[in-house]
Amino acid sequence: MTFAIIAHDGKKAEMVSFLMKHLDFLHRADVALVATGTTGSHAERAGLTVKKVESGPRGGDAQIAAMVTEGNVDAVLFFRDPLDRHPHEPDIAMLMRICDVHDVPLATNPATARMIVCGLEKNLNNEDHE
Ligand code: PGA
Repeated sequence: MTFAIIAHDGKKAEMVSFLMKHLDFLHRADVALVATGTTGSHAERAGLTVKKVESGPRGGDAQIAAMVTEGNVDAVLFFRDPLDRHPHEPDIAMLMRICDVHDVPLATNPATARMIVCGLEKNLNNEDHE
């Protein structure tokens, strides 16, 4: 399973702490992480293995959207900062649209990301009991 992780600057610490909190699940479900450049560097500093694409403002969101289109991403965790302005707003909107086009789970805040992980964890536990 592959998760794409993206966090705006004001949300990067929250993303790292979310990932650390769910480390067990990430390992158990064998989740590979792909990230926009700076988000990926933060995750790497926390000890995670991440495939990095370009930084968001340099086209990273567009690269992740392409991966979603190709069917290579199972969920997108995109912690957006609604209180900041972003030069790549069109790319952000495009990524969210592409997730909807392909019906790929998209969490734009930690509460929704927890729900996604919780749902996948339940599936995993059911598989263990089968
Ligand atoms: P970044 O990009 O991880 O390279 O900061 C995130 C974004 O702003 O979309």
